[in-house]
Parts: sequence; C-alpha cells; structure tokens
Amino acid sequence: MIDPGFGRIFTDHMAVIRFSDSQGWHDAHIAARQPVPIDPASSVLHYAQEIFEGMKAYRLADGGTALFRPEQNARRFQDSARRLAMPELPETLFLESVERLVDADRDWIPAGPDGALYLRPFMFASEVFLGVKPAAEYLYMVIASSVGAYWKGGAKPVSIWVSQHYTRAAAGGTGAAKCGGNYAASLLAQKEAIAQGCDQVVFLDAVERRWVEELGGMNVFLVFADGTLQTPALTGTILPGITRDSLLTLARDLGLTVREEPYAIDQWRADAKSGRLVEAFACGTAAVVTPIGRVAAPEGSFTIGDGASGPVTRRLHEALVAIQRGAAPDPHGWLRRIG
Ligand SMILES: *Cc1c(COP(=O)(O)O)cnc(C)c1O
Repeated sequence: MIDPGFGRIFTDHMAVIRFSDSQGWHDAHIAARQPVPIDPASSVLHYAQEIFEGMKAYRLADGGTALFRPEQNARRFQDSARRLAMPELPETLFLESVERLVDADRDWIPAGPDGALYLRPFMFASEVFLGVKPAAEYLYMVIASSVGAYWKGGAKPVSIWVSQHYTRAAAGGTGAAKCGGNYAASLLAQKEAIAQGCDQVVFLDAVERRWVEELGGMNVFLVFADGTLQTPALTGTILPGITRDSLLTLARDLGLTVREEPYAIDQWRADAKSGRLVEAFACGTAAVVTPIGRVAAPEGSFTIGDGASGPVTRRLHEALVAIQRGAAPDPHGWLRRIG
C-alpha cells in the first residue's frame, strides 16, 4: 500500500458545531476543510481549554463501513469536557458529526486490509477574552486522515525509556482526560526517550515514582508465563483507553485471567529477568497493539522474553482487528455501521 500520509494529509471535509453560553450547541454542519480564523486573544491560546478524541472508521470485509465503539469516544469526550470545565457535547451530536464526515469522505478510506480513516474530533475555547474562567464560546470540529498499516511490515516491538524526572499526571490532575495539555507536558520526556535511543517513554506515578502508569499515548499490558494478563488499574491518573477496555474483554472471552492492579517498575525488571514475565505490549487506537521489546532506565535496560512479539500479544491483536474489520463475529456489538 502507498503511504496515505497519515497525520499530514487530510480529507476534503470537516464537521463543525459551535457552542455559546447564550445559544447552546448550534450551527452543526459539514464544510470543505479550511483554515479556522483565530483571534490572538482566543482563550485556548492562553489557558489551553482543549480536548480531543481519536477513533477510526474501518472498511469491513463485506465492503461496508463501520466505526468501532464510537459511543465510548462520545462519553469519554464528555468526561474530558467536564474535567476541563467545558460544555458536554450530547452523544447524539458527537455520533452524527462523525458519521456525516465519514459519509462525505468515505472514498478516503484506503483499499486493502489495513486501510482506515483516522478521525480526530476536538474542541477548544474560542471566546475572545483574556481572563481565567471557563470560556463562554467553543468550537467543536472533526477532521480525518487516511491510515495504512500503522507499522509498515507488521507490529514491530518498541523500546521504552522509564522517565526519571517527569511524570504525566498526578492524583486530582487531568491524567484521565484526553486534553492537549497532557501531551504538551509529555513531549520533553518523549524527547529524552529518543535521546536515550528508545522509541517511547513510559511514565511512573507522581507520588512514589514506582508504579507503572502508561506511555505518552498508549496503555500498558503485561503477560506472564502462567498465562495471566495484567494492566494498571484506572486510578484517575491513567487515560481510560477504549483499546485497553476492549482487550480486557477479549482476553476474558479467550479464557485468560486478567488483573487490573498496580505493577512496580522494580517488579517489571525482576519478572523480566526471572522469566515470570514473558510479553508486554502497549495499546491504543492508532497502532492497536504494539509489543514492548526492551525497557531502559539509568540502572540498565532489560529485555522482555526474546524481545520479539509474543503469541498472546499476537493473538489478542488479531482477535481485536478481526472484529474491527468485520472478519469475525461481533458478540459485544462494538461495530456501528455507517450507511
Ligand atoms: C488516547 C490515549 C490512549 C489510548 O486510548 P484508546 O481509546 O485506546 O485509543 C492511551 N493513553 C493516552 C494518554 C491517550 O491519550
């Protein structure tokens, strides 16, 4: 497949809905994609009220098109809005905006087994006002970009750097909200990871600097030699990934034992060395499942299993992708067909 330019090339249209305290949600429409005029005093530029979502529209095995659990994105968007003191977009408006955009730009879904349309709903404070208070006006939009195979040539294991100086989220903060500010705060740690020769950064908790939380934009799973699975529990500082939730469900469907419990970085090192831990992977909408091959820290790095993708990681990845593509039964009703 030719690289469709994910994240650089966008489709022809965008969905727009406006909000103001006086009018509520209004002016929902699909427009030709175009720049948005921004007043220098738009409050998002100063106080960062901005949230987003990430989801995909898939071409199904039977030629149809579907979204994967979009109601979950709609609800998480509401949760994020509440935390950032922004208005909550009703679920029906969220779903309609996404569906209408996919309908308009359906031809942008690349042909082939890995092609999908990545959708980016987002909302920001557009009020022209410098003052520390929740804005009175917001702009909600959805843009889209075509994706091919996220990792060309299949899921390649990544190496991750354990951030020493930076944390992603603290109790009571915005770690569970999908807001741009969380990403801004993670970039320096990600830069450090690259400088250390790693692909990604993994964050520890902000209090003890001991418990594994997640990567900059993906949740973490561990697979043990006894066949059990573990992922850190959602304590408010971890983003509640929809891929995470789906994999927990699929793992249980497959008869695997799963635990949502804290996992310490020193335990990770010891378990990798002893062979108790055999696989680890990160997960999120963009890459779905990415094996973690190596973990690096100042005390030295360690490899998980043989550093390659393991059988449980592959099995879960394949099971999820098969449902997303309509190639396997959908017992949980996760697909929402469009048109
Ligand atoms: C979006 C995101 C994830 C993954 O969520 P999915 O719903 O699975 O795509 C994980 N961590 C962070 C910080 C995120 O922003």
